[in-house]
Amino acid sequence: MSHEHTVTSSHKITPDFALHPKLYSWLVQYLKLKEPVNIEAREMGCADDSCPIIETIFTIEQGNNKQFFKVARAIKNISKNDIYFSVQKQVL
Ligand SMILES: [Zn+2]
Repeated sequence: MSHEHTVTSSHKITPDFALHPKLYSWLVQYLKLKEPVNIEAREMGCADDSCPIIETIFTIEQGNNKQFFKVARAIKNISKNDIYFSVQKQVL
């Protein structure tokens, strides 16, 4: 089976993001972001409903600086620990 993953949803992450109200503050904290910052999140997954793999790619923009950050979970399931461990694994 092929696993060509495409964007399944896309969101702007703000302090009052309804799907996950803590996400913005955790990203600012663990990625040591300086506000104001623009954070977009795209969930990537299969058209195949039986595929359990969903990952979230964050695009973080501060002024002219743009960086990407990946967490191997759907947005609503991202925990503080997921962000912490993803930061350890990825060089931004
Ligand atoms: Zn897949």
